[in-house]
Amino acid sequence: MSDTNIDTQTILRVLSERLKGKPLNCDACGTSGWFSGPDLITHPILQHGQQINSVVIGGPYLPLAAMTCQVCGNTKLFNLVKLGLMAPFIPAADSIPPDDLPKR
Ligand SMILES: [Zn+2]
Repeated sequence: MSDTNIDTQTILRVLSERLKGKPLNCDACGTSGWFSGPDLITHPILQHGQQINSVVIGGPYLPLAAMTCQVCGNTKLFNLVKLGLMAPFIPAADSIPPDDLPKR
């Protein structure tokens, strides 16, 4: 995984570039003061064929930044891979069940 030291200012800078200067206002209160804590959030990814009620420790995940409105606490999750701030998860070949491997 790439750099996990991603701060609020970095996320806001990249979002501003992606939004081409359009302000990121809170859906609830309309203000634009956002805060992201020092820790990132991960969300497990279910791969094709995986049962919904199973969790794979060390399995694929989506790296997210939680941006929280400083006024009302409304929280938005941003995909750090899509923002170009983290590399996508690529599972090791030996962690893929044989039935899920591409056919040759
Ligand atoms: Zn708000």
